[in-house]
Amino acid sequence: MPENIPPLPDFTRWPSFPFEGDMRVKPLAAPVDVEPPRSGEDAAECVACNTPDDAYIWISERWRVRAMDRPTGLPMVLILECRSHLDIGDLPNLLAAELGVMTVRLERAIRSLDGVARVHVNRWGDGSAHLHMWFLARPYGRLQLRGTFLTLWDDILPVIPEQQWRENLALVAAWLADFGGTAIAEPPHIQWESPSTITYAGDNTDESPEPDADASRPTSLNDASSPPSQFDTPINDADPHMPTSIPNNEPHPHPSPSDLLRSDTIPAQRAAESQPVAAPPATAAPTPNS
Ligand SMILES: [Zn+2]
Repeated sequence: MPENIPPLPDFTRWPSFPFEGDMRVKPLAAPVDVEPPRSGEDAAECVACNTPDDAYIWISERWRVRAMDRPTGLPMVLILECRSHLDIGDLPNLLAAELGVMTVRLERAIRSLDGVARVHVNRWGDGSAHLHMWFLARPYGRLQLRGTFLTLWDDILPVIPEQQWRENLALVAAWLADFGGTAIAEPPHIQWESPSTITYAGDNTDESPEPDADASRPTSLNDASSPPSQFDTPINDADPHMPTSIPNNEPHPHPSPSDLLRSDTIPAQRAAESQPVAAPPATAAPTPNS
């Protein structure tokens, strides 16, 4: 091994480390004198501030929760944001206290999902200026996924079924709405298949070769054409700290978590490319480490 290359750290031998084989440590880049601005340092350019409520799975007067634009490898990856254009260290006492309440509440909601053993809660803040807390669900029994590499595994694991993902989003949104605010995510539509449309192996006729899975599926979690769901009405015990207000704006692109994993910081255009769960155009979603 060349002299200037430091030895591999111990964590590369941890069971949770996702890679094996020949590796070496990257050369360390020289530090910059002045760090570049993060995405959305200016509120007018902030993706979070400019994203309408219907791109989120749950909203309240001061907080919003969004998902990725598509399912990933983990059972659930969600982001908690305050409505105010603030970072974590700038929160006034009211929001700081509510951040604690919301963190606990969201952790419980995600942990209540089937197959979830643990919920990792992270705040990096290197990519985007607007406070966004990451909640990543670690699948039950997957001991290899324990610890700090969970965000990497999210991009490595096979993507979970979209139906299950949407059901989980609706469950979490409904859980949060029990305490106040409004659930935006709805359960996926039931995909009912008529017996006459079933195609058997060897049947080469053109008639319904494959059930049209997309026909009855909402294009987004907040499909405007969907009827109001049971989650539109808070179930009980409305939390006075979490009032509701729902502007009705056009969908807007928003950042996602896997991009953040791939870079130390998130370029502005990268954040702009990523989009939240409900954004219709095909773009990217936010990535942990942002
Ligand atoms: Zn903002």
